[in-house]
Order: sequence, then C-alpha cells, then structure tokens
Amino acid sequence: MTEPARPQSTPLTFDAALELIVQARLLTREQVHEMKLHAERKRRLLERERKQQTGEDGAVISPAELIAAFQMPTTDGQVLGEERVQRTIAAAYNMRFTRIDPLKLDAKLVSTLVSQAYARRNCLLPMGRDGATLVLAVDDPICAEVRATMASRPDQPVELVLALRSEIQRQIADIFQVRANIRGAQVDLGVSETDLGNLEQLVKLTAAGQQVADDDRHVVRAVDFLLKYALDQKASDIHIEPKREVSHVRLRIDGVLHTVNQLPKVVHAAVTSRIKAMARLDIAEKRRPQDGRIKISRDSGEVKVGAAEKPGIEVEMRISVMPTAFGEKIVMRIFDPQTVFQDMGQLGLFPKQLEIVETFIKRPHGLILVCGPTGSGKTTTLYSALRALATPTLNITTIEDPIEMVVEAFNQTAVNPRVGLTFGAALRTLLRQDPDVIMVGEIRDTETAQNAIQAAMTGHLVLSTVHTNDAPSTIARLLDLEVPPYLISSTLVGVISQRLLRTICLSCRKETELAPAEAQLLGIEQRPGERFRVFVGAGCNICRDTGLKGRMGVYEVMPVTDKIRRLVLTKAPAAEIARQAVQDGMVTLRESAIRKMALGLTSFSEVLRATTDGDF
Ligand SMILES: [Zn+2]
Repeated sequence: MTEPARPQSTPLTFDAALELIVQARLLTREQVHEMKLHAERKRRLLERERKQQTGEDGAVISPAELIAAFQMPTTDGQVLGEERVQRTIAAAYNMRFTRIDPLKLDAKLVSTLVSQAYARRNCLLPMGRDGATLVLAVDDPICAEVRATMASRPDQPVELVLALRSEIQRQIADIFQVRANIRGAQVDLGVSETDLGNLEQLVKLTAAGQQVADDDRHVVRAVDFLLKYALDQKASDIHIEPKREVSHVRLRIDGVLHTVNQLPKVVHAAVTSRIKAMARLDIAEKRRPQDGRIKISRDSGEVKVGAAEKPGIEVEMRISVMPTAFGEKIVMRIFDPQTVFQDMGQLGLFPKQLEIVETFIKRPHGLILVCGPTGSGKTTTLYSALRALATPTLNITTIEDPIEMVVEAFNQTAVNPRVGLTFGAALRTLLRQDPDVIMVGEIRDTETAQNAIQAAMTGHLVLSTVHTNDAPSTIARLLDLEVPPYLISSTLVGVISQRLLRTICLSCRKETELAPAEAQLLGIEQRPGERFRVFVGAGCNICRDTGLKGRMGVYEVMPVTDKIRRLVLTKAPAAEIARQAVQDGMVTLRESAIRKMALGLTSFSEVLRATTDGDF
C-alpha cells in the first residue's frame, strides 16, 4: 500500500494509522512491520466475518478495526484495542474521542440533518449541539466529503469528534429504521409531508378523527424495534406515557428511568393498540385497566411474537395498561431469563454464604425463606435455587402471583383470589398432588404461613419469601402470623435476606478513600490515621454519567442453629436472635455490603442506600 497523491482527500489509511501508533510509542516498528505483512489477509477475514453477521457485501473495515484485530501487545503491557487506536488517532488530529450513548442521541436532529445515505457513506452521526456548534461523530479523521460540506456552510460551526465505526453505523441503522417506520405510519395517514416535529399539525389531525391502524406494518416494526431495543439495553421496564402533546417512551435500566423517545400523539394510539393486540387484550376497552403478557423470542436479533424456535431465548413481558387523562399508559415489565435465571454461583453470594445456601436446598424437607423489600431480587434467588434442584426425579411445583417466568421443568400455578384461589388455598390443594419441592411466591397471611409450615413438616421442601427487613426479624413475622414457636423451630431451615446493589462502572472506576464521617455512618471503626480504600465511578459515557453500571445481590444468610431454635421456643426478640446469629458466624447484610465496597464492587452511597432500613 502506498500513500495516494492527495492524502487529504482519501480516508486515513491503515499504514498512516499505524504510523501514528508508532509515534505514540504504543507499538514497535517491528510489530508494525509484521502487521503490514499480514494486513490484506486479515482484512479479507474480517470482511468475510462481517458478511456472515450482516449478510451484506462490501463491508468497510476501518483502520482502527483492522489494527485492533491483531490484538497486539502494547509497550505498556496491554492489548491494543479499537478504542485506544481511535483515541491515539484523535489525539494526533487534535480531535476529541467519544463513545456513543444511544440514549443521549437526538433522533430528530440526526434524521433532519443528514440523509441515511450520507450518514452511512461518511460514517457520520450528529451527536447534538454544543451552544451554536454542531457536534458530529465520525470514524475517519480526514473525512473529505464532510469537510467539504462544512466549508460550504461557513455560517454553521461544526466540531468533528472521533468515535468507533461500529457504534456510529449501529446508531445510524437504528435511528433511520425507527424514523422510517414512524414516518411510514404517517405516510399511510396521508400526511406524507408532515414533519414529525410539527406536533401541532398532528394533534389537529388526530382531533379530526384520523387513526393509524395498529396492524400498519410501520407500527408493527416500530413496536418490534422498541422491544428489541429495550432488551439490548437490558432494561427491566418500558414505560409509554401519554402527555398532552406527545407521549414519552422511557426505559428503566439498573433501576433508573431514562427517556429514550417521544411519539407523536397519532402514533401513540396505534402503538398502544399494537401492544394490546400482542398481549391479547381487548383493544376496544380503553376505560378500564388491563393486564396481559407477551412472550417474545429474539433469535438472530429479530423480535418475534410467540415461542422461540430455540429454547432459552424466550423473554416474557408483563403488560399493564392504565387509562390516564391523555390516553392509555403502558408499563411493560421485562422478565429476561438471562436476568431472572442465574446460576447460584452468580447471584453475588460470598463463597461461605453459597456453601450454606447449598446445604439449605439439599435438605429433604423444611422451610427456606428469602426476605427483602420489593425489587430486591428475591424471585431471582428462588428461581435459581429451584433450577439448581430441578431433576427429572423431583416434582417441583410453584404457586405464584403472578407467574414470573414460565419454566417447563416446574409445575406452575398462578393464584387467582377472584375465584378463591389464594396462596393458602392453592397450597392446600397442591399438597394432595405429592410434590417434593414447593415454591410459594410470598407468605403474607396466616393461612399461607400455616399451610407452608404444614407442608414443610410433612416431608416437603418449601421455599418462599417474606416481606421483612432482615433475616432475624423473619421469625418475629412468622410469630405474628400465628405460627406456633415449636413449629417454626422444627421446620425453619434458614433465612436469606437480600438487597440489590448497583455496581461501580468499570470504565470510570477510580480509587479514593472513605471519609471518617462516611465510615462512621456505616459503623466502621477506624483507628486514627487508618485509611479505608474504596472506589467510586467518576461518571462516563458508558454509565450515562451515573458512575454505576449493572447490579448485584448482597446477602445475609442465617442458618437456624440449635441455639437459635432454643431462642425461637422462648419467643426471644429479633435483636437477641440477631446477636446469636452473628455469634454463630452470620455476616450481616451491612457487613456483606461493606465487604463488597472494600472489594471495589460498589460505592459508599450504594451501601448506605441498600442497607439502611425504612425503605418500605
Ligand atoms: Zn462510567
């Protein structure tokens, strides 16, 4: 490969990029020489891989992608990745480098500013405005066509920032796809020239009684896109909230809601109808709340309604529709098996705790309780335990409200109080069916508590949840539910109390130390001059400036020991049981959380938030 005659009119070449890498002293001349020898073969390999992934010919492999594919060790002992290459190129061209957060993009800006063809050809994505300056992400620092366009518009200041080619291309595809579908819905309405931003006009049109059909292919595709997008972002909930003029689409990710899109009023009604149709709800009913579920599969990146062809990739969504002043509000809870079903070893239990929990579930009979507030991951723990138990020789039965996830290996029943099928009643019937292991969604009344204990006493292993703050107070709760102390002491095997902690973002994690006041708040005793090393997330693009990304469980595991059994018989207060449990070796929730903080997994504020009572 030789340098072309007009170097500034063609994209940065592989050789030129390598030269920048050498100048930055990341690789040696020898390494680079070796890479050049194998570059063409490597490029063809990548092109073939890309074709297999996308089915499209003629994929462009950027210099950064090609360099990264060699996985060369750098002089500072790392592996040279695409991001580092792009950062080095950016620095050489005095440009900023950025990662792209899809949630921060303004889809309307993107699609009104550039055509899809132009964006794709130049691998360019408008990121937003910084004052009067338009910020454009590109993957090539030279990008002659873009600079020519800029030169023809001297009135518009532009900053070019460098980003990863794959991130830019993916967002271009996503944004134009969803825009095309929403626009298509409007074309079918006969308002082809309407700008999506011109909401007033759209509101007028809806007022005139025009409707978009929910089976309109554009609406179907827009909804499919939304569901897929939510899965990709690992969202736990999708909210579609109608307001006076537009409706907001928001996703809950790691417990925090992010607004991702706005739908014109006219499209909201069609999207709502489509989702209701998918959930087999009454589309005509718009005054009453309705609940339903959608099961989708996501093989090969496509959302399909109905059962998956391959097992293990079905996702359940529970739909709740609620009439509001401006239309129907939809909340969709996503039960992704990858989240709900985790291997016991991945729940976040410390090895000692895991060992104890494993002894709990190996018992032939008895009662195991998981406690914590709503949204603390109790269901995940129960499902994981049941899955660990599931063998063809065991009959595992669940009674849930409602069924969180359909699992073929279990026999699942949903309670239905309207026909008298309560937890207690269902449990009574169930016992006649001779199950080995029973999971009861929640113990919240005397009948359920007594039946669960009864089942545990008569040779069944019973797992359930209780809404209490910590493991020791679960015993007091059972006493409140009129379970006699001798039955608790003879059946209760152990209690697991848990919370979810948000984990520190690994891409912006930095070391710091706990302030004395913070240590005091957590009850950590510090000798004068002693330092407690902790970590915080500084906030970056990957974690949407929160410093936190992902969640993990934190636990308190209390086996019911002989000494605790004796205390139960004397109806000892929870504090006394707690003291005994700690003496018997229990690590409290707070202590477990502090250990996770010391390991750099979570932050001080998360520990304080998750382990301070009064959250329910
Ligand atoms: Zn971060």
